[in-house]
Parts: sequence; C-alpha cells; structure tokens
Amino acid sequence: MRQRIAIYGGTFDPIHNGHWQVAKAIMNAFAIDRLLFIPAFVPPHKRGQQISSPFHRLAMLAVATINEPQQFVSPIEVEAPDRPYTVQTLDRLKAELENSQLFFVMGADSFRDVTTWRDHQRLLNEYDVIVAMRPGYQPGDQEGIGIADHLSPELQAKLVDLSGGQVPSNDNFASPHIYLTDYVEVDVSATDVREIARQGQSVANWVPPPVAAYIEKYRLYQKS
Ligand code: ATP
Repeated sequence: MRQRIAIYGGTFDPIHNGHWQVAKAIMNAFAIDRLLFIPAFVPPHKRGQQISSPFHRLAMLAVATINEPQQFVSPIEVEAPDRPYTVQTLDRLKAELENSQLFFVMGADSFRDVTTWRDHQRLLNEYDVIVAMRPGYQPGDQEGIGIADHLSPELQAKLVDLSGGQVPSNDNFASPHIYLTDYVEVDVSATDVREIARQGQSVANWVPPPVAAYIEKYRLYQKS
C-alpha cells in the first residue's frame, strides 16, 4: 500500500494548538503514516508584514514535534532559493517520496483564498487536499453559500464532505479529492499568540509547552 503523507504548510509564526490539534485529528482520521510541517519562506500574501526568521519558525516546529515519531518539520521551503509555490513543493515531494500519496492540509481561511494561488486548478486536480474547518468558516455559514462556491464545477465535483466527524472510505483514495473536515475547532490564530506575547502575557494556553518555553526564552514577539 502507498504511504500516506500529510503536508501541512504555513507560516507557523508560531505553531499553535489549532495547528497541533488539526494535525493529530487528521492523522487519525486518514491513517496518515507521516506528517510534514513545512514552514514557508515568506508566504506571498504576507509579504510586507513582520514575520519571524525562518529559523525561529522552524525551530519551534522542531521542538513541538520532538516526541511525535510520525511528525516532522521539513526545511524544503525555507532552504529553497527560488521561493517555491505550494504546487511546486508538492511536485518536488512527489518526485522524492516514491510510492506515496500526498495530502495537503489547509485551514478553511486558506481554502477560501485558494483560487488566488499559483496553479490552483492543478494543485486541486492532482493532489488530495484536506480542509480543516476554523471557527467562523462553517461550510454553510454565509446564508447557505458553501465554503467551496468559489471553485469551478469540475473542482466542486471533487468535494467529499466529511463534516460531523466522518472519516474517508478507502474507495475515496483511488483518485484525488478535496475533503472538508471538522474534527476539531480551536479558536486561536498565530496573530492572537503574537499579540498575547507582545503584551508580556503567557502563551502557555495557546501553544504546545516546548513552544511556550521557546517563545519566552528567545523573547519572541515582545516589544524591543
Ligand atoms: P496568522 O494569524 O499569522 O495569519 P494562522 O494562525 O492563520 O496565522 P498559519 O501559519 O498562517 O497560521 O496557518 C497555516 C495553516 O494552518 C493555514 O492553512 C491555516 O488556515 C491553518 N490554520 C491556522 N490556524 C488554524 C486553526 N485554528 N484551525 C484550523 N486551521 C488552522
């Protein structure tokens, strides 16, 4: 059987309990063999904003996952001089990880923006995508307009609605799909965590314990 590998891309400035719980829940539901967190070098939509160095973001992911044998952090994007788009990173991983099925994980807010991503049609056609609901982004929250109304009818045909905590069936895995999941809902963003740290308060309730210790030790996000 092909190895199932989940790819969780993002800024991760810092990784927080939302990312953490989504990763765990998806690994369980999809019987994922390995999950790779991939911090972006500078995500296109965030250029111009202050972002911690890739090294701090990668280090926080590394300490967060140190006791998780199936979770890894990959430097594939922070090391890439050409600042790849997501679809290019997936292409590279697909070539490197033979006999694997890749599942790209994204939150509902990213999914709402996905049509602005480079080659989004190819990304959604060639790769499995798992969308994790986020508070404020329910599938039908906008007067019955679904979360996927921005996609073409061809792409909408690939949707598998797993809301209500359903898990995929093996039949789904024969071809790429877009899975809508709501396994966990954690109302936290990295923006919130940075703001809490900036105010000099503890972020212990919002990030994995080693990440809270890292933020404190290196005085990240604090007023200089
Ligand atoms: P920021 O507040 O800086 O914009 P963020 O909390 O959205 O950050 P990112 O690192 O940008 O975190 O997110 C990486 C990926 O994780 C994105 O696909 C995002 O949608 C998803 N994500 C982030 N937080 C959550 C959450 N609480 N629940 C589900 N998905 C999330």
